[in-house]
Amino acid sequence: MGMLVYVYKSPLGSYHSTCDGITHRHSELCVVDCRGNFEPNNNRPAVKLVDDRPMGTPYPKLVPVDEREKGTWLMFGGNYAGCSDTRFRDFCAENNGGPYGMLPVFDRIEHKPEGSKMNLCNICNKPMTPTFDDSGNVLLTGENNSWPIIATGVCCDRCEKDFVLPARMKDASRRASK
Ligand SMILES: [Zn+2]
Repeated sequence: MGMLVYVYKSPLGSYHSTCDGITHRHSELCVVDCRGNFEPNNNRPAVKLVDDRPMGTPYPKLVPVDEREKGTWLMFGGNYAGCSDTRFRDFCAENNGGPYGMLPVFDRIEHKPEGSKMNLCNICNKPMTPTFDDSGNVLLTGENNSWPIIATGVCCDRCEKDFVLPARMKDASRRASK
């Protein structure tokens, strides 16, 4: 049994970046780890709260249970879900989600183009280009660890330079000043 929550999205309607995620197709979701009176079904898919703290600070979000279990890489698609039920507001607050009973839904799934040998950067979504030597052997894969911008992922050289390294520097100086 879980809590029924409603999907909140931009009133402009056409704006969404979910790549056909569940909040694009459904207006209700069932939060299975929150106490409530509902079961998930085809009209209200199962979601749960996770918080993997990509920047080291709390960042609770709702994710589709089936995709999370498959290990699918999930991103914020721009939509939120919540309700005014006290049990859900308490559930959010207990998990560092604030007092409002509203959470971002990470339901955007990036698909690698069919037949593509290139891996896509998890930050800018562009291919990470390998460097080859004269014999065609890979010198550099072009893939970098994207932590802390994305906790478990990879990014291109450009995003590493522009986002990942500055964020690590900031993180390091914040720790040093404690
Ligand atoms: Zn990138």
